[in-house]
This record gives sequence, C-alpha cells and structure tokens, in this order.
Amino acid sequence: MKAKKEKKVLLTLRYFFPDAWRKSKAYFILSAVNVVIEAARPFVSIIILPLLLDALIAPVKDVPLICLYGALTVLLTIILSLLNSVLSVHLEKYEDFFQNSSAKALSRRCMEIDFALTEDKAALDQIHKAREGLGWSGGVHRIANRFFGAISDGLKIFGTIGVMAVSAPWLLVIVGVLVLLSAVFNKKKNDVDVREFSRMSKIDRVFAYLCRDMEDFRYGKDIRLFGAQNMMLEKASKEIERLKDYWQSLYRMKLPFIILDIIVTALRDFGTYLYLGILAITGRITIGIFSQLVSAAGTLANALQSVISKCQEIAALCSYAYEVVKFMEYPPCLEKGTKKIADIKGKHTIEFRNVGFSYPGSGVKVLQNVSLVLHSGEKISLVGLNGAGKTTFVKLLCRLYDPDEGEILLDGVNIREYDYDEYMELFSVVFQDFRLLSFSVNDNILLGSEDDGTVDSLLEKVGLREKVDSLPQGGGTPMFRDFEKEGTELSGGEQQKLAIARALYKDAAVVILDEPTAALDPVAEYEIYRQFDQLVGGKTAVYISHRLSSCKFCDRIAVFEEGTVKESGTHDQLLRREGLYSKMFTAQAQYYI
Ligand code: ADP
Repeated sequence: MKAKKEKKVLLTLRYFFPDAWRKSKAYFILSAVNVVIEAARPFVSIIILPLLLDALIAPVKDVPLICLYGALTVLLTIILSLLNSVLSVHLEKYEDFFQNSSAKALSRRCMEIDFALTEDKAALDQIHKAREGLGWSGGVHRIANRFFGAISDGLKIFGTIGVMAVSAPWLLVIVGVLVLLSAVFNKKKNDVDVREFSRMSKIDRVFAYLCRDMEDFRYGKDIRLFGAQNMMLEKASKEIERLKDYWQSLYRMKLPFIILDIIVTALRDFGTYLYLGILAITGRITIGIFSQLVSAAGTLANALQSVISKCQEIAALCSYAYEVVKFMEYPPCLEKGTKKIADIKGKHTIEFRNVGFSYPGSGVKVLQNVSLVLHSGEKISLVGLNGAGKTTFVKLLCRLYDPDEGEILLDGVNIREYDYDEYMELFSVVFQDFRLLSFSVNDNILLGSEDDGTVDSLLEKVGLREKVDSLPQGGGTPMFRDFEKEGTELSGGEQQKLAIARALYKDAAVVILDEPTAALDPVAEYEIYRQFDQLVGGKTAVYISHRLSSCKFCDRIAVFEEGTVKESGTHDQLLRREGLYSKMFTAQAQYYI
C-alpha cells in the first residue's frame, strides 16, 4: 500500500476532516473566522502606517488626522490581536478532544480487526506505526491548524503582491526568488525527518516494549526470581543510547540546511533594504511608501515562507497520520459471508472435513487432514501432547483463522458463508491465556450486558460465591489495582473460575474450555467437573485438558498427535485400543485416579 505523497495528504484529509466536522462543526467555523482575522492583521500597518508617517512628515501637520491614523492603528491592532489570541486558545482546546477520539477509533479498530491479524507481523507493525503516527502528527487539530494557517497565508500573499505590484514590482522578484530558495532548504530539512521516522519508530518501539514489561507486575515474579532486572535495564540503556545517537545524527544531517536557510534570509533582507533605499533616495517613493513596502515585503516573505513550510508540514503530518488511515483500512484476511444462522441458541452440528492449516508466514503444517464431527449436545475432550494442535483446532473452530485446506461445516454449510458476528455468537470460550479486565468482578462476567439474574448462581456454580461475598464491595469490587487501590488480586484458580463464569454467562450453543482447570487445585477441579453437566447443560462442549481423568466426564475423546486426530472414541474404547490415549492415561493414572 505505497501511496504518493499528494495521495497520502488527500486520503488523510479525507479520512480525518469529515470525521472531525461531524464531531465539531464549531471548530471549523471558528477556524475559518480566525483565518480572516489572522490574514487582516498585517494590513493594519501596511495600509495605515504609511498614511500616518506621510502625515507626520508633511510640511503642514494635520493633527486630528494624525491622531485618527494613530488611534486606528492601535485600536485595530489590539482588536484583531485579541480576537486572534482568544480564538487560537479556544481552538487549542480541541487538540486533546480530537486526539482522544482518534485514539478511541484506533482502539475500536484493534478490537474489530480479524484476530488472525493480531498475530501477523505486518499488521502488528501497522498498529504500532498508527499509534506513533497519530502522536507524531498531532492529530486533526495540528493538521487543521496548518491547513487554515496556509489559507490565511495565501490571503496575505494576494494582498501584499497587490500593494507591491503598484510601487515596486522588482521587490516581488527579490523576495520571491530568495524565499523559494529558502523553501528548498527547508524541504530538504523536513525530508530528513520524514525519511528517518521509521528508523526512529523501530528504536522507540523496542524501548517502549522494554519499559512496559519492566513496569508490568505480571512479569514481576519472573523478573525477580530469575534476576532479570539487570538484563532488562541494560537493554533499555542500549536503546536510550541508540535514541541519543539517532537524534544526534538527525541534527547533523539537518545542520547544513539550517545554515543555508539563515544565509538566504539575511540576503533577502539586505536586497529589500538596498532596493527600497535606492527608490527612496532617488525620490521615486515617499517615506510612508518606503515603510509600507518594507512592511509588505516582510509580510510577503513571511507568508510565502510560512505557506511553503505549512504545506510541507501538512505533507509531513499527513504522512505520519496516514499510518492511521492505513491501519483503519487494513484489508481483512477472512472472507465474510452473509448467511444467517437459524436458531442460534439451538442444536447445531459442526464438522471438520480434511482440514489442514499453517499459521500465516510460518509454512509449518500445524493441522493436517483433521476430520471430526461435533454433534449437538455432545461433550468432547481433546487430548494430546503439547504442540499437537488442540488449541489451533479450537481457533479454527471459532473462526479466528480459516483453514488452508478442507472445510469446516456448520449444519452442512461452509462456515465462511455465515455472517461472521453471528457465527462468533455460537461460541463461549475460555482460552488458556484468557484475560480479565481491570473492571469489577461483575463487569468481567457481564461485559456490558444487563444481569439477567444468573450471575449469582453462576458464581455459586463455579465455586466463587464465598470469595466474591468476602470482597469489600462484593461483585462490584474492581479486579486488580490498575485503577483503584482496593482492587482485588484473585488467585490464578479463582481467575480461571471467573473466566468460566463469564463464558457460561454468554449462554452460547458451544462451550469451549481450553485447559479449564490448569490453575485449579485438585479439589476445585473435581468440583468443576462434578458440576460440568449442570454448568454446561445441554450445550455442545469441547474441553482441552492435560488431565486425562477429566475425559471420563466426556462423551467422546479425540486424541491429537502431530496435527491430526489419531484416535477417537469413549474413554473405555480408547483404553481397550491401547494406543496413544491408553499410554498417556496409564502414565497419568497414578496421579489422578
Ligand atoms: P496444543 O494446544 O496441542 O498444545 P497448539 O495448537 O497450541 O498445540 O500448537 C500447535 C503448533 O502450532 C505448535 O507447534 C505451536 O508452536 C504452533 N503455533 C501455535 N500458535 C502459533 C502461532 N500463533 N504462530 C505460529 N505457530 C504457532
């Protein structure tokens, strides 16, 4: 998705401006008023000051006229400056508002993109670039500020050219040429920034990653027990050094252009005074007009320089902000159908037919030729050694990824044909690496929906009732201490129970528990399994467990080995077959029977 600079600017403006307009029309209206005020300001002195000067040096002094010119100059300058400052300060207040809205839109997109992209390096890089690009660009306000500033500069340019064309047309050439030269140097300077941005972004990302891990208390135990502090700090120091070197090399690259720009500006002032001085000495212009032209030339030079640098700045800001646009429009990787699922909470059969799959970019076949039917209401257990492909099977089942080979059918229809969100509605999953949010215990179960009166009984069923009742604010107690100091830190097992309660609250047709009891003690584990039928009811249930004793609770067991289903049957059938399951069960039996 490589776009030309102009296209990037257009696409960025087209993405950000209409959205900002919808959020605040007042911002754009006030900005337009400010454009006119800002453009009018220099013309007070360009128009009235020469009149005042000529009146002052006239042989016959017209005092009331002199006073009028003086008062007008002061009054208009004060009024325009005041209005300009008030409006600018008022508009500044929108910076945070727009930035936060864009950040929220980015977060929303992160939650909406296809899950497969969250493990895709290019997409992850794009998320990071988008976040950084948003920060670097300053968001809508900074871009709009430069944009309106450029319009205001354009008005100043038209005005001053008109004034100068009448009395000193050559001045236009002197100012024009030298300003353009200065713009070339400025552009080269800005190009260095834009070119080096991605290098900086990478170093910055590593540093941010290190800081995040060092500050994250979830890593706290491992860091302390393995004495990883020094290694982490050393790595952070190295990144700080690299960042320092980066800024130094950036400054060195930009320095020649900064010096050339200063020289050109000095030449421009010198040329202006020399040319106008000659016109005044030879009597071709009055002192009033001399002052008018000096002022107009200064305003023109500044406005030209400013409009060029603002356009360059807009291009640079847009090239950073374009990363946001790229992420917001990141192409989906899953085909999404429109077919509706009849009776979403009802009975459904799901079939894996010769399914093969490799994770994107890995090239390693993680699943091959997997065929398995999940009947409605069936409780099936997936077992196998680590890395056999059980979790991957679940990810495909939930359509977090699509298979490369074969197909997955829901009630005989390829799942790609169904409406994606509806298909997701079918599943309630507790993944091994499930995450609870730093909100209240109840919020973690409800996730935004209204309590239909089942939360209490679910807490009871998963064995969390007493624990939650003992918390300072019961179910309203916040999890973790990220936001509030009275937040609770539940044990791993308790968190797992809460995750199970959350999954059951969703009341989906298929419940999937990936190692549901890994963090539970044997008693709690037994309790959960004892209550399984009651917990899961008539739903289809898929369990992944390393503890084969749990398989006894299931109708059927599918044994995974090297990415395929090697055996399947009931516990007794598989024991009799003396295959992998029987070996694994015998090995574990001494601990779990
Ligand atoms: P199990 O659940 O049986 O332990 P998994 O399905 O988690 O096995 O993993 C199967 C294989 O896929 C393993 O070799 C694992 O390293 C690999 N794998 C898992 N997740 C990814 C991923 N996101 N990208 C690449 N390979 C992965």
